Amino acid sequence: MKIAVVGTGYVGLVTGTCFAEVGIDVTCIDIDQRKIDNLCQGVLPIYEPGLEEMVTRNVDKGRLHFSTELAGAVQDCDVAFIAVGTPPGEDGSADLQYVLAVARGIGEHLSSYSVIVTKSTVPVGTAAKVRAEIEKALAKRGESIEFDVASNPEFLKEGAAIDDFLKPDRIVVGVSSERAEEVMTKLYKPFLLNGHPIIFMDIPSAEMTKYAANAMLATKISFMNDVANLCEIMGADVNMVRRGIGSDARIGTKFIYPGIGYGGSCFPKDVKALIRTAHENGYDMQVLRAVESVNDDQKSVLFNKVSKHFSGKLKGLKIALWGLSFKPKTDDMREAPSLVIIEKLLVAGCTVSAYDPVAMKEAEHLLGSSIAYAKDEFDALIDADALLVVTEWPEFRVPNFAVVSRLMKQKVIFDGRNIYDARELKELGFAYHCIGIQTTH
Ligand code: NAD
Repeated sequence: MKIAVVGTGYVGLVTGTCFAEVGIDVTCIDIDQRKIDNLCQGVLPIYEPGLEEMVTRNVDKGRLHFSTELAGAVQDCDVAFIAVGTPPGEDGSADLQYVLAVARGIGEHLSSYSVIVTKSTVPVGTAAKVRAEIEKALAKRGESIEFDVASNPEFLKEGAAIDDFLKPDRIVVGVSSERAEEVMTKLYKPFLLNGHPIIFMDIPSAEMTKYAANAMLATKISFMNDVANLCEIMGADVNMVRRGIGSDARIGTKFIYPGIGYGGSCFPKDVKALIRTAHENGYDMQVLRAVESVNDDQKSVLFNKVSKHFSGKLKGLKIALWGLSFKPKTDDMREAPSLVIIEKLLVAGCTVSAYDPVAMKEAEHLLGSSIAYAKDEFDALIDADALLVVTEWPEFRVPNFAVVSRLMKQKVIFDGRNIYDARELKELGFAYHCIGIQTTH
């Protein structure tokens, strides 16, 4: 089979590379010339564990190609994926301009039957708009080439994207013809061999499934953060409560960890977009509005604790930050809680020294010289008045506290991810604050 993947970001690059890995001929397209030039040299635009080796292997085997030329990739392809960004517009709705521009481009170059698949997260009704754009472009050319549209939302998690793609919990595909279903079944067959299911449905349901999935996950996070905040007020320990409720099979243990709010390129924008879609159609997503509001507040929780600990006298303090990315194992800083925390600390007159295992370059791009970039986690601590654990990277989990204590000016830790043991830190002489547990010192 021959496929084109248009948009070579997190989703497009992982998708294209994983299809190449099972033997399919893939061309990844992007409008960003520099990104494509770099990829041709083996330089990846993102950090994703295991991806670099996989890209190199498949390029060397001649199965994976990178180009800015849509025409060559789309002609004679069996499937063309649209995997460009769908950022939030001013009103929160998904901005479809990139998706529709690609659809237009595909219509301008299509030369034989193909399935055009939206992999980008798009609202219900987008596949119909994609179809209309392609038909319009074909009509302009005076052509009437047959094609199908399909919706195949992506559920990969940054940081575990390759495994998620190769061994998916499920593959959701929305189709409106048997022919498209056959093509998509053939394409995904290599991934289904170990019992991973493919779920076919109508296109609007597939489009909605992605939003419902992300909205449910965001809801779990905000619910748990709300519970954590109440635990703290009432003297309950949210870690115990989490274990207590997680052992109920109907609730489950996953995704019920309290923290400092969700971020990243998906949950915030997808929750917003679903609220907006509902609003435009006369429905109020009450739960999701609360999910969003709890999350906005939660991003300030760690800063509020810092402020309380130092009785509002923050001017001149040096604060060390461990972790900048919105979650471990990625360099993605879109909507990261660290950005909100840093802004508040700087406004309050603190200086910030930060370290992240892979997001330093991305942070520097966003924050410039407003903060100091430490060379490792210990360097960040020198003369610090407090340490804020913002992202739970594995290397922060069991630090040498004797060294931590020697380097810091004041032994104060604010743990936004509940990775340390309150009793242990108290015994070591630290003032320790975390999420959802009253801490005395
Ligand atoms: P991204 O911003 O990392 O990448 C998008 C790429 O598309 C960029 O490289 C951009 O240059 C390119 N592009 C834009 N217009 C183009 C055009 N006309 N032709 C060719 N290339 C073009 O985005 P992403 O994180 O990969 O997300 C893509 C979509 O997938 C979004 O809808 C997102 O919601 C969804 N999604 C993302 C994730 C994730 O974890 N990042 C997971 C599931 C779904």
